[in-house]
Amino acid sequence: MSTVEEHSRLIESLLAPVLASRTAEELPLLDALGRVTATEVLSPVDLPLFRNSQMDGYALHSADLASMPARLPVVGDIPAAAGAPAPLERGTAVRIMTGAPVPDGADCVVPVEDTTHDDHHVTVLCARASGEYVRERASDLRAGEPLLPAGRLLAARHLAALAAAGITTVAVLRRVRVSVISTGSELVPPGATPVPGQIFDSNLVSLSAAVRETGAELVSAERSDDSLDTFRAILARATAAADLVITSGGISEGAYEVVREVLEPLGAAVGHVAMQPGGPQSTAVVDGVPVLSFPGNPVSTQVSFAVFLRPVLIAAAGRPQALVTEHPLDSALTSIPHRRQFLRGRVTTAGTVALVSQPSSHLVAAMARAEVLVDVPAEVTELGAGHPVRVWVL
Ligand code: AMP
Ligand code: MG
Repeated sequence: MSTVEEHSRLIESLLAPVLASRTAEELPLLDALGRVTATEVLSPVDLPLFRNSQMDGYALHSADLASMPARLPVVGDIPAAAGAPAPLERGTAVRIMTGAPVPDGADCVVPVEDTTHDDHHVTVLCARASGEYVRERASDLRAGEPLLPAGRLLAARHLAALAAAGITTVAVLRRVRVSVISTGSELVPPGATPVPGQIFDSNLVSLSAAVRETGAELVSAERSDDSLDTFRAILARATAAADLVITSGGISEGAYEVVREVLEPLGAAVGHVAMQPGGPQSTAVVDGVPVLSFPGNPVSTQVSFAVFLRPVLIAAAGRPQALVTEHPLDSALTSIPHRRQFLRGRVTTAGTVALVSQPSSHLVAAMARAEVLVDVPAEVTELGAGHPVRVWVL
């Protein structure tokens, strides 16, 4: 029986080659939202592109403001989008709008609120120093300098910087492609009418959604009955399409354990991890593709994903990890020896953590009430109220 840490490391090492071999794809900016840059992006241009005004006002020579107030003739008007203006003569001013190019010679802009004007003259009431309210070319970034590093998770502000530099597409890492297979002859899809003995398949949707939540790409999701041939055919399709396959069910010690029966002859390590829920676990590599198999009980499946796979896929997507925090227990609990338990809980308004469910791993509705997993170490059998416990935010 392995520990949670050992099994986590095994899964990390199985997935490492898949993650390391990911190539890049070039996407339009908006499609790259939430993706991770594959390479450093250098700016093709200076930012700002040209020297421009920070205010609506008057561009002039600061040396002409030696005594206040200063009255200067206004020789023109420069709106935004004006072409390159003529150089400004000493002793004159030009009316200028925010973002418009500042003429050569002018070395400051006086905001309009610090002036009065009549037909052809402006009177400056408040002196300004050289450089004031002028945005120099390349004062933000020089052409050829890095706009974004490799590995940056792209949010709106990063796309804005790319757009401002005139860039239309960006190279991002391909997402990890994941296929999900649920197994069990008793399973019918939600929407069907179950006959006695049948249940609705919830793992297919929970694993599929959990994959997408990490930023990985769900490439297929199929349900298999417990016949070896059906499962083999679905598994072949999944390994052909994906970088990683996740299965649920069929790895316990009973009969009709379709996943175990198909994967064990292919070299799967089907075993037990010292945890509850989620004890039975299996790893395999089929046709070069890692296949991770979780037990079928809905809570076991969800906890297995959260503990073993979610951190790896989130890291691969360059996203921030789910929080692991510590809170005092709301009331005492007992736990089984030699198993690390992940109990379902909720953080109260008082900042304590309360259990929301019995430990049984079929309690799928209770799982929906949980906001955190309460992590009870393997050696612990009892904890008193107020004792601090680690919680994993779901
Ligand atoms: P197994 O791991 O296949 O032995 O299944 C353990 C328990 O989980 C059984 O009660 C199954 O009916 C149930 N179960 C297995 N797969 C699913 C699923 N996809 N959705 C809901 N329950 C399932
Ligand atoms: Mg089963």
